[in-house]
Amino acid sequence: MIDEQLTQLRQEINYHLYRYHTLDDPIISDAAYDQLLQQLRELEAQHPDMVTPDSPTQRVGAEPLESFEKVTHPHPMTSLANAFDDEDVKHWVERVERQLPAGMAISDLEFVIEPKIDGLAVALTYENGLLVRGATRGNGEVGENVTANVRTIKNIPLRIPVSADSLDFPKGLEVRGEIYLPIAEFNRLNQQQLDKGDKVFANPRNAAAGSLRQLDSKTTAARPLSLFAYAIGYVDGAEVATQGEALQYLRQLGFPINPDITVTKDFGEVLNFIHRWMEGRDQLPYDADGAVIKINDIKLQQQLGIVGNSPRWAIAYKFPAREATTKLLEIKCNVGRTGQVTPYAVLEAVNIGGVTVRQATLHNFEDLAKKDIRAGDTVVIKRAGDVIPQVVKPILDLRDPDSLPYHPPTVCPDCHEPLTRFGDDVALVCINTACPAQLVRQIEYFVSRPAMNIDGCGVKISEQLVKAGLLKDAADLYTLTRKQLLGLEGFAEKKADKLLAAIESSKQHPFDKVLTGLGIREVGSAVAILIAQRTRSIEALQKATQTDLETIENIGPSIASSIVKWFSQPPNQALIEKLRRAGLNLEIALPDVKNEGALPLANLIFVITGTLPNWSREEAKAFIEQHGGKVTDTVSKKTNYLLAGEKAGSKLSKAESLGIPIIGETELKEQVGGRK
Ligand SMILES: [Zn+2]
Repeated sequence: MIDEQLTQLRQEINYHLYRYHTLDDPIISDAAYDQLLQQLRELEAQHPDMVTPDSPTQRVGAEPLESFEKVTHPHPMTSLANAFDDEDVKHWVERVERQLPAGMAISDLEFVIEPKIDGLAVALTYENGLLVRGATRGNGEVGENVTANVRTIKNIPLRIPVSADSLDFPKGLEVRGEIYLPIAEFNRLNQQQLDKGDKVFANPRNAAAGSLRQLDSKTTAARPLSLFAYAIGYVDGAEVATQGEALQYLRQLGFPINPDITVTKDFGEVLNFIHRWMEGRDQLPYDADGAVIKINDIKLQQQLGIVGNSPRWAIAYKFPAREATTKLLEIKCNVGRTGQVTPYAVLEAVNIGGVTVRQATLHNFEDLAKKDIRAGDTVVIKRAGDVIPQVVKPILDLRDPDSLPYHPPTVCPDCHEPLTRFGDDVALVCINTACPAQLVRQIEYFVSRPAMNIDGCGVKISEQLVKAGLLKDAADLYTLTRKQLLGLEGFAEKKADKLLAAIESSKQHPFDKVLTGLGIREVGSAVAILIAQRTRSIEALQKATQTDLETIENIGPSIASSIVKWFSQPPNQALIEKLRRAGLNLEIALPDVKNEGALPLANLIFVITGTLPNWSREEAKAFIEQHGGKVTDTVSKKTNYLLAGEKAGSKLSKAESLGIPIIGETELKEQVGGRK
């Protein structure tokens, strides 16, 4: 009885995890899910002897290991031969052509093209539907047993099939896949590491590898790793004739399959796809370092066989490296909006993947000291996707023997006041509230697009206005006069009037924009919209306690405390008073859309792609959600609209092929009814 109840609960919970993490299409609320999980935990606590390895409660991690056990792969995990340009791929096809059985030509072939995700290859073994082992690739013959860690990854099924109404499980199955960290999660993880003063990861691949190879699986459980399954190692109890069928079969069992994978007969199309991915790689939600091309027919794959260590029937097209070496000219420091001082490198200009890089981040002083990076060093620079260029390491062989280690500053590089360190935090902070560098950063942020969006007030002008003593805080923008501006270098009448007009019209911007512009730690535009919607006015927000704020959806203790702290400071209260006198919107004038019956975008599912003219992704997402819509990452038949901007990549073609309507930012705003 209890046994049955437990089995059913587990299956139900695992199914909801699958809906949420693999299909991105949950059918119950988070609260309802938590309830189910709680029920299971209580039952298992009463019957500890009945806890099974496929129980979702086992996803939190097990006891730490002393070391990883070695695992011999029953079928070696071969590595693919590489192609570095179109010519290499053409030569590969010619080689395949020469090996084809009599009577077969290139035009008879089907190709499967998959983005090559820069993660960690694993083999997952299932016996009678149960996940029994997860192993890293290792050297291809022997890997490491990371089963406890693999279990914590939310989109890896612990039991297959995940959905009760789908096919039977195979007796034995080995699934091959790539474990990776999505870019957004990578950036978030690195920010967390920085905030804690821990070391940051050089790239998503390192972060994924470091997270998967943890002896304490509880650490792995805390990292948002993900899987894409890409092949069957072996299967006992099912027949698949093509790679396409293999993927389809895995998808039916409940494995996550990359939606960008494509099958085509047209070899020209293969190259087109690769180029589209290569150009759009910054738009992909994961780090792709190439594309893999496979012959679809599995019997043909077997006939073509293996040469050396690599199969003849597949090739990996490597995208050009986004690393380069150059000379580090100088280590300089930036003073941030909140006074935090961070080091960066001034570089001899270098071209990386078509972009000229002159500066790169050095993250923090601890990281810099650990890598012992020095002025004058030849260094490796890396740039990838949305990740800002960074100094990976110095090349020690090329170091000048007379060079000296770097020492962090003791005074603020701008106002020369002594720097402070808080507790065991590694960050150095300038606590001078009148520090001009901080003020420039604050103004810069206040006028930026996600905040007050004041045109004609870029970095240089913000700096000029502060240096001239015209701005002591952001509110002073609203008392600037034409005469004052005309007294500044480079300001003719036209430029002055334009700036004043932009400042004037910014007064019309809604409350959430003002709130964003205040630059409260952890309150970006998406959070500002949430808070504005709930509190409705700056008065209410000022009065809100930590507990009040934490009742708002998605607002945790850290954000809440940061808000309360900000409003408790007298200079900030004075700033609010000045902004009020200037006539800015400090409350919501619009009706509360959340309380008004049906929302304009209720039940609509959106996918966002490309660069939008005015919005960041975050802002677009917040806007859609605020009006009742939902945003998912992948285009599927369930998608109602694709919100597309410039440089839209594979999602656009996918939406086109599925006949999903494509709209722009302006159309979306019109559909909702005019809110700017
Ligand atoms: Zn300072």
